[in-house]
Amino acid sequence: MQKLTVFYSIFFFLSALYADNLFLYKVPSSLTDTRLKTDCPMWIELGDQTLFVGDQDMAARLPLISAPVAVNLPLYLGMSKKGTVTECLTGGKILALHDGFAVFSAPQLVIKALAITQDEHFRILPVEFGETIVAEHQGVRLKEADPRVSSLLERISEEKVMSVVKKLVNYGTRYTTALNNGQIAIEMQALFASFGLQSRVIEYSLWDTAVYNIEAVKKGTGNGNKKVLVVGHLDSISEKQMTDAPGADDNASGSAGVLAVAEALQGIELEKTVIFMLFTGEEQGLKGSEDYIRKHVVMDDIEAVLNMDMIGFCSKQPGAVLLETERLAESLVQRIATATRTYTDLVPSISYYAWGSDHEPFLKRNVPAVLIIEKDWAESPGYHTTKDTIDNLRGDYLVKLVRINLAALADLAGLQQPGF
Ligand SMILES: [Zn+2]
Repeated sequence: MQKLTVFYSIFFFLSALYADNLFLYKVPSSLTDTRLKTDCPMWIELGDQTLFVGDQDMAARLPLISAPVAVNLPLYLGMSKKGTVTECLTGGKILALHDGFAVFSAPQLVIKALAITQDEHFRILPVEFGETIVAEHQGVRLKEADPRVSSLLERISEEKVMSVVKKLVNYGTRYTTALNNGQIAIEMQALFASFGLQSRVIEYSLWDTAVYNIEAVKKGTGNGNKKVLVVGHLDSISEKQMTDAPGADDNASGSAGVLAVAEALQGIELEKTVIFMLFTGEEQGLKGSEDYIRKHVVMDDIEAVLNMDMIGFCSKQPGAVLLETERLAESLVQRIATATRTYTDLVPSISYYAWGSDHEPFLKRNVPAVLIIEKDWAESPGYHTTKDTIDNLRGDYLVKLVRINLAALADLAGLQQPGF
């Protein structure tokens, strides 16, 4: 793959020098296949559309293309989890958009200026052709539903999950260094304990302030050391973060998801140990997960990480879910996609461009981790403002995403016996 990339880079460079004109063509992903991608190797798959770059003659070889757009190489990929990607790419010419990803071109001066504005929630990088950014038409295996799992999923109720979201939003703010952070941590620990789990508050330091992650452990019945982690970030952010940061979607939804999965497993035996984590410091650059990884858990013991971040907003029908990871977790993400198809009516999309949430530090250390996130996250209203409120959420959708996590966990951790 690496060699191919080098080869294509040289080829593109020469093409850029010698070709009179290069054009970008958009083809529905449902009409592209391996043969077409081999014939026209300068492609990028971006959800429901695949972009091809080539000369004028290429038009005749492609099915159902939209009007070609003249382009200059190199092209760049912009990824934003902060505002819309269009807002972040000031000065760039956007050629294609999908779910917070944008393929764009810009003069070097603009690229340099954009590069400086990069952070944990916004990133640009040169496009590598022959890559799938988001796959929507990937064959996902369907399994026959396991009746034990189906009845376990019934334990997740919309009413209960939404009442926890409401409780979290009612704290006013969950900003990592806000004055109420200790109180919230103690209450979260108590909630996990009420589900019969060993739980603890783990202190770490951010900007010389004491801040807290919350951990809860459900011991497996097996003898092995392997663990599955179910995580979400508890902290919120806004323009008035010390006092008013409701963070309903980002991320009371995911935190309520972690708690709901923990609660649903009361009295259920799993072969592997499960660790539930509510991280803080996510909005300051994944500080809580980094601290936990460095000090409190052995990476080799972790078999899989499920990260719920923004799981309550849905603007389109039929509903869909984005599963975001890296290639190293290909088999894990396929299992979650299968759980999605088997136990919900949602359509799974898969992206191998992971970043910007707590799955990233695990992936960086080669631990399979997947972010489960609403497909429409780039349109989530009130994102990172005081307007990220509960009335934007859809309880029925949120429940489905929590069920995907619970079904995937039952599969990964080895459901022993239903216990009910
Ligand atoms: Zn978030």
